[in-house]
Amino acid sequence: MSDSGSKKNQEKHQQRQQKVKEQVDAKVASADKVQGIFQVITGNGKGKSTSGFGTVARCVGHGKQAAVAQFIKGMWECGERNLLEKVGVPFAVMKTGFTWETQNRETDTQAAQQTWQQAKAWLQDDSIDLVLLDELTYMVSYDYIDLEEVLHAIANRPKMQSVIVTGRGAHRKLTELADTVSEVRNVKHAFESGVKALEGFDF
Ligand code: ATP
Ligand code: MG
Repeated sequence: MSDSGSKKNQEKHQQRQQKVKEQVDAKVASADKVQGIFQVITGNGKGKSTSGFGTVARCVGHGKQAAVAQFIKGMWECGERNLLEKVGVPFAVMKTGFTWETQNRETDTQAAQQTWQQAKAWLQDDSIDLVLLDELTYMVSYDYIDLEEVLHAIANRPKMQSVIVTGRGAHRKLTELADTVSEVRNVKHAFESGVKALEGFDF
């Protein structure tokens, strides 16, 4: 390309970037509300809980307080929990009851309710900056926890508190209330080609 051709290209590029910058600056200037954020991370792809825990780490890294409620009793110990409890993040985990295998509605409901009571207390505590409600969507789908109660608790939380709900098939009312909704789509997953869940990667 001739020198004048490449100069023209450079000018065009600069003009385009200037326009992008103006648009971004205008958007940044108009985002002037200061408040906690409610995010829902749903969909069938991998990365919902890891994303939620990533935000917990981000929060704690800034010296803020986070709390985690896990609504499914994992088959494996949770790597994030091992780490985050050491830096003062409280966890409420369903000790008994619901996993994919259990079929006892009564004990599952009891276990879900117990964890939910702790989560609800955090949702009223303005010293907690971020509450992660991991896999909460299933508790609502199975009717172990009342949807309206969840919506009310999240809507009435302290103004600067953020909340993240993860899990597949998030109820429409949850995504409507949320400020940010991300849907993780499954393109492919190692498990589908026979690769076993790996410690330190999948849990
Ligand atoms: P992760 O905890 O890895 O972020 P997730 O929260 O998005 O996953 P879950 O539905 O909670 O997904 O599933 C938890 C476990 O199931 C993880 O071990 C994850 O690797 C695995 N998993 C997630 N998505 C898929 C999928 N599409 N197919 C098979 N296994 C999956
Ligand atoms: Mg998950």
